[in-house]
Amino acid sequence: MVSRVIPVDPFDLVIFGGTGDLARRKILPGLYRRYLDGQMPGEACIIGVARGDMDTDGYRAFVETSVREFVAKKWCDAKILKAFIERISFVQLDATGDQGWDELKAATKPDRVQAFYFSVGPSLFGPIAERLHTHEIAGPDARIVVEKPFGHDEASARALNETLARHFAEHQIYRIDHYLGKETVQNLMALRFGNMLFEPLWNAQYVDHIQITVAETVGVEGRGSYYDKSGAMRDMVQNHLMQLLCLTAMEPPSKFEPNAVRDEKLKIIRALDQVEPGDMVRGQYRGNDEVASYLEDAETDASMTESFIAMKLHISNWRWNGTPFYLRTGKRLRGRVSEIVVRFKEPPHSIFEEDTGQTANELSIRLQPNEGMDLKVTIKEPGPGGMRLIDVPLDMTFADALGEEAAEAPDAYERLIMDVIRGNQTLFMRGDEVEAAWAWTDPIIAGWEKRADKPKLYDAFSTGPEEALMLLHKDGRRWREIR
Ligand code: NAP
Repeated sequence: MVSRVIPVDPFDLVIFGGTGDLARRKILPGLYRRYLDGQMPGEACIIGVARGDMDTDGYRAFVETSVREFVAKKWCDAKILKAFIERISFVQLDATGDQGWDELKAATKPDRVQAFYFSVGPSLFGPIAERLHTHEIAGPDARIVVEKPFGHDEASARALNETLARHFAEHQIYRIDHYLGKETVQNLMALRFGNMLFEPLWNAQYVDHIQITVAETVGVEGRGSYYDKSGAMRDMVQNHLMQLLCLTAMEPPSKFEPNAVRDEKLKIIRALDQVEPGDMVRGQYRGNDEVASYLEDAETDASMTESFIAMKLHISNWRWNGTPFYLRTGKRLRGRVSEIVVRFKEPPHSIFEEDTGQTANELSIRLQPNEGMDLKVTIKEPGPGGMRLIDVPLDMTFADALGEEAAEAPDAYERLIMDVIRGNQTLFMRGDEVEAAWAWTDPIIAGWEKRADKPKLYDAFSTGPEEALMLLHKDGRRWREIR
């Protein structure tokens, strides 16, 4: 496992929803990996909380099964796993009732770092915050970690912020967006602000356009009725794509510290123009012999909810005036890809003859698969065939360049949990950021609801509706292929 780790102070981590899907697949395996890496001090305690009929022994067995299922076999050392499991206990309580909180209080110590992870449905965020306060469980330096979705629109996000603010100060609230914990996202900041090479070119004068794609091959099967109430705009654009857009477009913060970074992100959200209906395409996937359609997955005969959205955005500020940002995300697409592509302009004057094949530089920052970056540069085609130009990628897949250490880099969740323990909010969303993102999103959704826009149908495992291709074609551009 990764060796260069910074140990953290002893802590108590309480996971509300400790038996849920997220805890099982991400949080608990991630904590084991941090333990294995020597990052979790011996005194650290993990306390699972849920209503289910379970005791500490039962929960320890649950944790062991989760770790064995979601951590590579080579890391599941029985002795280490046993020592890790001894750090774990369980408290049974219903977050909406008043029983069981004294047991929880007895299990945590306010004089150490306390983190309360709300890995439960959003309707429980308020009741838990309130009870942690009224039962005097959370010490003055306690942190709460709040999962997505953070609200359904601006009003509900604001109401949730107000509820949390009644019991916790902003510096104690960690709104999680796991995209921000990805290695490449942080590398985007290292690339932009740790090098002299790109930043002088990172503006409308040199950048033709930027594409942000988050494509998934999975459909909404299994959670269709839940998804049908949100759709791609609320589920992906308002949070994940917006965060990627902000980090790509923001001005250099004065320091890599929480409020400096978040102030700059907020300025981008506030500078976003509203999207014209003609600059946006919503879609719904069809079924085929192998997979069900969106409507079947959502268990409905008719739905106006989008499983795909593509849009062209403009940021009204000096840096980006005239450079469009194209965003797209969808389910049941041809590949599973998350990437940011910065397409630079062509040189202003070509000294080469026409038809030499000259094109523009393209920097792509891949979040998945194979986290890394590549830069397309134009070179002369080798050989005696005259001056023919071709593109070659300068590829830096982290796992290739940095070896096993990069391939084993912590998952986004484990990195973010350790940031919570350290008290570093840089990679978490501030309350005003979330509200501003909703304030931009709400009128767009209200617009298509008012127009009763129907989503365009697209084939399962395609690149989305034809109209999404046209969104770029009509500007003389094209999407990077989804492979
Ligand atoms: P889940 O599988 O439904 O688990 C919910 C957990 O909460 C269970 O442990 C459940 O146990 C507990 N719970 C429910 N009601 C409770 C109550 N009244 N008091 C105490 N505990 C209660 O949900 P999940 O998929 O883990 O998702 C948890 C949160 O993470 C949600 O906000 C979700 O949107 C977010 N999220 C999940 C994922 C993911 O991949 N799963 C990804 C991103 C965000 P009992 O029923 O025994 O109480």
